[in-house]
Amino acid sequence: MEVGRRLMLIGGQWVEGSDGEFIPVENPGRKGTIAGEIPRAKAADVDRAVLSAFRAFEAWRKVSPRDRGKLMISIGEAVEAKGNEIGRIIALETGNAIRTQSRPEAMLSADIFRYFGGVATEIKGETIPLGENLLSYSRREPIGVVGGIVPWNSPVLLAALKISMSITAGNTLVLKPSAEAPLAVLAMAQICSEFLPPGTLNVVTGTGTECGIPLARHPFVRKLSFTGSREIGRTIMEAAAERIVPVTLELGGKSPQIVFPDADEQQVVDGVFLAMRFTRQGQSCTAGSRLFLHESIYDSFLKKLIKKLKNLKIGDPLDESTDMGAIINRTQFEKVYSYVEDGIRQKGAVLLTGGLPPGEGPLAQGYFMEPTVIGNVGNEWRIAREEIFGPVLVAIPWKGEEEAIRMANESHYGLAAFIWTHDIGKALRTAHQIESGWVQVNQGGGIVPGQSYGGFKQSGFGREYSLEGMLESYTQRKSITVNLQF
Ligand code: NAD
Repeated sequence: MEVGRRLMLIGGQWVEGSDGEFIPVENPGRKGTIAGEIPRAKAADVDRAVLSAFRAFEAWRKVSPRDRGKLMISIGEAVEAKGNEIGRIIALETGNAIRTQSRPEAMLSADIFRYFGGVATEIKGETIPLGENLLSYSRREPIGVVGGIVPWNSPVLLAALKISMSITAGNTLVLKPSAEAPLAVLAMAQICSEFLPPGTLNVVTGTGTECGIPLARHPFVRKLSFTGSREIGRTIMEAAAERIVPVTLELGGKSPQIVFPDADEQQVVDGVFLAMRFTRQGQSCTAGSRLFLHESIYDSFLKKLIKKLKNLKIGDPLDESTDMGAIINRTQFEKVYSYVEDGIRQKGAVLLTGGLPPGEGPLAQGYFMEPTVIGNVGNEWRIAREEIFGPVLVAIPWKGEEEAIRMANESHYGLAAFIWTHDIGKALRTAHQIESGWVQVNQGGGIVPGQSYGGFKQSGFGREYSLEGMLESYTQRKSITVNLQF
């Protein structure tokens, strides 16, 4: 499968970059083969896209929220109808397995459009009781042109979020997908463009330096919304600071999972496995990649987990029977391995399963890696502190509850956390002490539209995914006070 050459969306037209250059997108399931090609946008293209979004804003802001919402619902329906096709493109370009990841991602994206379409009329203000002779009320107004930048790990879902939140709130958008995974985003944008007025949604494709930076720095961009790494998040924040525009940052994580002694059972093993996103090769910002196991269950729990991991089917992302696909590209593949090498070199470390890459056989044809668990890890080691963004779980034993909570919080990240115990009082006490934007108790699933989502600490700030998140992040409040005695 190959999707061929795709164009980008500017002002309702499908166009090449002004230099006529293209970037190949690699298929990570088969090293050296190409999934498709995208225009290599540079500053001049970004400028064109921002200006077209700027012009479209004047009319779009005046469309009633109800009508904007109706369009979002129609887009959601159309995305769902093409969900299988979009899922296949995601699998091809990201290496994420079609059954466990890519198709569900496309379907969830349809739900995201429908959710924001449904809550569109909640973009409303208040009246404020300032006195008999004063009428004071507030309005939620759109901000203007939004610059949205997304990563490659859930490209369509994150693009769907940026599109639906910005545009439902009355803004117009210039979206930059990752050059590693732009093809399915373009396929979804094609659907959106059939419903939205030209210029409302623009998609520019290219590298971070050539296309992302000019977007972040463009003087007509009035709001930045970035999902990606902590390092690039800092650059985006600097660009926002320069022009004093609001910014939302959804960054990385190194999320803890705390398993209490009463939770040594198969359903918890299944939940820990899900929370670690092994079937997305651990390439999830919320991956519960630090497993804090009570010492009394440490061995027996790991034994069950490893048995489960050994049964996973790794391979062709487009094969319906595959559980776990490939890592996105060579750079990331080598980075993940360098962490594994570093981890197992540490004194006392035990490689419990997985490890170094298969040198031959079908798995050597793509960036495949076995799920890896390293035991007896010190919480201060690099593999326990830095975001690996690969299928590498570190297991750390603990004795006392306070020690577990302290170790869980010893991180500059604070995106997600998972707590496993039948004692609900203990679970909630722990949840309240954890420094993370999202704590799950006895489950390890993904976010559902309607839940405000975002990080504590260096995992970022601002909330997305919910009505409240859309109102806070994509509208600005205006107060109007009227003297009734005039
Ligand atoms: P990345 O930060 O390298 O890239 C993200 C996007 O920024 C890409 O589109 C890239 O082209 C662009 N970019 C790169 N350099 C840029 C620059 N100087 N200026 C402007 N744009 C630039 O991240 P990635 O490797 O694509 O994705 C993985 C990271 O994303 C991980 O850290 C992961 O935790 C994070 N992530 C966070 C969330 C969340 O919701 N918190 C969700 C998914 C992924």
